[in-house]
Amino acid sequence: MTTHSWHERSKTVRIDGRAVIGGRRVDAVSGARFDDISPIDGRKLGEVARCDGADADAAVASGRAAFEDGRWAGKAPAERKRILVRFADLMLAHEDELALLETLDMGKPIRYSKSVDVCLAQNCIRWYGEAIDKLYDQVAPSPQDSLALITREPVGVVAAIIPWNYPMLMAAWKIGPALAAGNSVVLKPSEKAPLTSLRLAELALEAEVPEGVFNVLPGYGDEVGRALALHMDVDCIGFTGSTRTGKQIVQMAGQSNLKRAWTELGGKSANIVCADCPDLDAAVAAAVGSIYFNQGESCNAPSRLFVEESIRQAFLDKALGMIPQYAPGDPLDEATVMGAIVDTIQMKTVLGYIDEGKAAGARLLAGGNAARVETGGLYVEPTLFDGVDSSMRIAREEIFGPVLSVLSFTDLDDAVRQANATPYGLAAAVWTSDMSKAIRTARRLRAGTVHVNQYDNDDITVPFGGYKQSGNGRDKSLHAFDKYTELKTTWIQI
Ligand code: NAD
Repeated sequence: MTTHSWHERSKTVRIDGRAVIGGRRVDAVSGARFDDISPIDGRKLGEVARCDGADADAAVASGRAAFEDGRWAGKAPAERKRILVRFADLMLAHEDELALLETLDMGKPIRYSKSVDVCLAQNCIRWYGEAIDKLYDQVAPSPQDSLALITREPVGVVAAIIPWNYPMLMAAWKIGPALAAGNSVVLKPSEKAPLTSLRLAELALEAEVPEGVFNVLPGYGDEVGRALALHMDVDCIGFTGSTRTGKQIVQMAGQSNLKRAWTELGGKSANIVCADCPDLDAAVAAAVGSIYFNQGESCNAPSRLFVEESIRQAFLDKALGMIPQYAPGDPLDEATVMGAIVDTIQMKTVLGYIDEGKAAGARLLAGGNAARVETGGLYVEPTLFDGVDSSMRIAREEIFGPVLSVLSFTDLDDAVRQANATPYGLAAAVWTSDMSKAIRTARRLRAGTVHVNQYDNDDITVPFGGYKQSGNGRDKSLHAFDKYTELKTTWIQI
């Protein structure tokens, strides 16, 4: 599609904000709704069901009934695979519509909604569908007169609560393994970007995922999210979001039925570039590209940059030369690489951190302001601070916006110490031609993903998750099945 046709289509794309419970589109029990506003231009896209505890009860009951009668869990894995692969095919068949809904809802550039978000999300559903009929259970080394079987069973009803920064992809990371393993799912998308999750549930039904197996409840965190986290009939909660909310989720799981609580949380990732970096241009492109991608609204964005003194000025000169490429633009324009900030709250947060950085004495080398784009809407300039000290709030707290902080350090030991001196532990990177140094450093970095001489490589085959307060458990890869299955031992007397 051309930029013109994305705009045309955006005027007619179907927006249905009703919940999906038991295979039907329904309003909230209370009848309450909230407005879905696009950050691109402030236009009202539609109204969305404001679900609460009553809707959570209905969706969980629907998921429970579907689980108990075996309409999904009781199917042969090959049959679940057939349906999930069809679901992924339908996502591809509707890729323009899904990409458009994602961009309108949360402001990311259309080129990435299509080439990254839809592409990776459908691949995730497909991959778990394809995997599920290739997993074998085990027989333990058993005594002569008996047999010990170790089998995996679905946990039951999974509540998935997700953020707004990659709405469709985060939904896929949860529902892919949870559905493939035979669970029922109640998905609660972020109130800031619920549209693609709701559309996914319709496509799943069309693919023959049985009614009641995949329910979607839009609404606010402290209403329907809280109701799910406290629900006595939810067996497991898969949460992705901020560390602050993650702590509440774990607490609510503990104070209710001790449901399994898996958390994928925030980050403040460090990117360490040594003087013997093998390719300075690649290092600069990765440092700049990864922080400004998705408007900086990425949990694993390398927001803290450590560059060794002898290459520091050359690095910064090159970075400053690249930054204009990331000037925000109309997200429906296919040429745009940086889009709108999700809402006014987040915009205020990002600009507030920028002001804090200036006040704390960090040197502003680029950006630092709201950006004006012809659509109106919410945009922030790609921002670069030099001379940032580890004690400053912009170095310690997750900004979740297009703000890169360059920190000073004395030597590699000091860089690693500073990299680890944060409550987070999601991702990190080291750039050096010395592979021994690279591996030694990678081993010392306390993060769930460490990159060597690159950033942001990603694949569904590898686990993704955090150390420390970046969460527990892992999304993606076969390891994600650990979150959504129970191990059972069955002893059989021969
Ligand atoms: P958030 O914690 O505000 O909200 C996440 C979800 O939780 C939303 O659906 C929200 O409605 C819900 N929620 C909020 N309060 C709740 C409560 N009291 N009870 C139950 N549910 C509640 O986070 P956000 O602003 O939507 O997302 C940004 C955060 O997500 C960042 O910190 C980012 O790093 C993190 N994130 C992490 C990963 C990862 O894989 N580690 C991936 C993407 C985003």
